[in-house]
Amino acid sequence: MSEAVANRIPASLRAGTFSHGVHPEENKHYTAGKPIQRLAFPPELNLLLSQHAGKPSVPIVHPGQEVVRGEPIARADGFMSVPLHAPATGTIKRIDLVPTAKGPLKPAIILKVHPGESQEILYGAHRDIDAMSPKEIIQGVQDAGLVGLGGAAFPTHVKLSPPPGHKVDTILINGCECEPYLTTDHRLMLEQPEDLVMGTRILMRAMGAERAIIGTEDNKIDAAEAVRRALPADGSITVKVVPTKYPQGAEKMLAKALVNREIPSGGYPSAVGLGVYNVATTAQIGALLPWQRGVIDRVVTVTGPGIDKPGNYLVPIGTPLRFILERLGYHGSARYLITGGPMMGDTVSSLDVPITKGCGGFLVMRPEDIEEQRLPKTYPCIHCGKCVEACPLHLNPCQLGKLAVKRRYLDMDEFFLFDCFECGCCSYVCPAGIPLVQYFRVSKAMNRELKAAGK
Ligand code: SF4
Ligand code: SF4
Repeated sequence: MSEAVANRIPASLRAGTFSHGVHPEENKHYTAGKPIQRLAFPPELNLLLSQHAGKPSVPIVHPGQEVVRGEPIARADGFMSVPLHAPATGTIKRIDLVPTAKGPLKPAIILKVHPGESQEILYGAHRDIDAMSPKEIIQGVQDAGLVGLGGAAFPTHVKLSPPPGHKVDTILINGCECEPYLTTDHRLMLEQPEDLVMGTRILMRAMGAERAIIGTEDNKIDAAEAVRRALPADGSITVKVVPTKYPQGAEKMLAKALVNREIPSGGYPSAVGLGVYNVATTAQIGALLPWQRGVIDRVVTVTGPGIDKPGNYLVPIGTPLRFILERLGYHGSARYLITGGPMMGDTVSSLDVPITKGCGGFLVMRPEDIEEQRLPKTYPCIHCGKCVEACPLHLNPCQLGKLAVKRRYLDMDEFFLFDCFECGCCSYVCPAGIPLVQYFRVSKAMNRELKAAGK
């Protein structure tokens, strides 16, 4: 934290941090000062039935059916699933296969948007959240189709249902947004602090928690101040500012920094009395639940040196990426795009992939930025130990990397391969240019396959 920034933060708002981690170039300047702006509705929306962890949604509409914005169009298939809602008033065209960010085609409901329609949300009715029981709230969260909007897309109602014996006393709201470039959570905290506080209250009621802490990094002081002004007077919800460091937004790092609790290896936050939720998810809970509405829009940061009009845009779920990029001045190919940030993000298979609930941003690079990195030079490990010093989980990426190269995937269990959450800190600091995190992704898949084959 710089001295100038530190002086602006009252001591009561400051919290500590975790050990290790890295400080990549933040590059938030492209979009941090850009208010959220709605983009035009596209002519067609492609609503993937599987855009969350768990079982795909099951369509409850048929081709030719007219639907209104906000109306349910697919139901949850059991507990580990969520429903889908129509993001626009229009006509169901068909159910078809569409490309996904990772490549394979998957089933989606294709909705033709009515041109000239105001797209006012007519669906839903107000209800008194304070009169609802925790069980009714958790059901309401599932009915709203809520999933982790920070990227994981894990159904939120499942996170609100901890294993028997786990008592949650504290809710942590993750507003760190530590990935370089991305500014969705920053803008949501600035522009929708009331929704965020309402969502936090709802989460506290659902979990029976006595207090909540909204944590953000010290490069978003304006957001921390906006949220602090919206807090209730009873002191049950507080804001804490942590030093800007990657990966501060990871659950384990946030728990350590804000309340000095350690989430056990392979365990849930509820094992140490915590529930951890992302800012965007919480703000949606606050905006949707009191109106019995579902997730139909999301804010997406479109940023990077390759886009003419970088910004934070509100778009309907299912909008084709091509539609967004063309409006913002990008006419290149998918090879210069990264979904998510540069540390944990991934390449995009096609410009025809639709926006999903978990998609918070796209990084658009220029050909010269990508070509520079396309042929990275990799040298043998020089045992400098930088990867060990960087790993926020205190793993030994150097040793894991050596086992991966030797294809000793099962032996990697001894070095806690599955604790690695692929933050990329080790690859980022490695002077030998060894793609450690890519090794670990492949190693996990191979390890699982070998175990499934009984080896
Ligand atoms: S990618 Fe895994 S091994 Fe590397 S620093 Fe992150 S958690 Fe540690
Ligand atoms: S940072 Fe790279 S070169 Fe250094 S010990 Fe780790 S793997 Fe080896």
